[in-house]
Amino acid sequence: MEDKAEKGNKVLVLPCSGIGKAYGEMARQAAYTLIEDFYPDQVITTCLAKLMIGDPDAVNLVKNNTVFTIDGCASDCARKNVESTGKKVDHSVRVINIFKHHKDLRPTGVLDLGEPGFKLVQFLAEDLAKEIDCLGKKED
Ligand code: SF4
Repeated sequence: MEDKAEKGNKVLVLPCSGIGKAYGEMARQAAYTLIEDFYPDQVITTCLAKLMIGDPDAVNLVKNNTVFTIDGCASDCARKNVESTGKKVDHSVRVINIFKHHKDLRPTGVLDLGEPGFKLVQFLAEDLAKEIDCLGKKED
């Protein structure tokens, strides 16, 4: 996956690492949904922790691809870590902002987001897929 990504024709989606927080878990699940259900050949991800320690492979992925970040809250950990490499993110979202427009979709817990939480994850993934459509990244 990373070899292909170095060619620079992918969308790298990076969720924050909000372990123990429902919004962080939703960010991760939205990234997986985007990759698995929408763009398995176009979208890739890597571990944010690798980027935080300056891992060369992770930094190259960021520098050579279109980058989307998904942060749980206004701390914007994923976006800030990307921008610490000198790269400006191409698109960033916050789960908490999406939630403000869908307050009925409150996750039931961190370990089990429940049906409402996964509906919000689906909204997030759909919004990101539309952004990719706008970028003309879809191969079909
Ligand atoms: S953006 Fe918010 S939820 Fe995500 S890792 Fe940072 S503090 Fe946690």
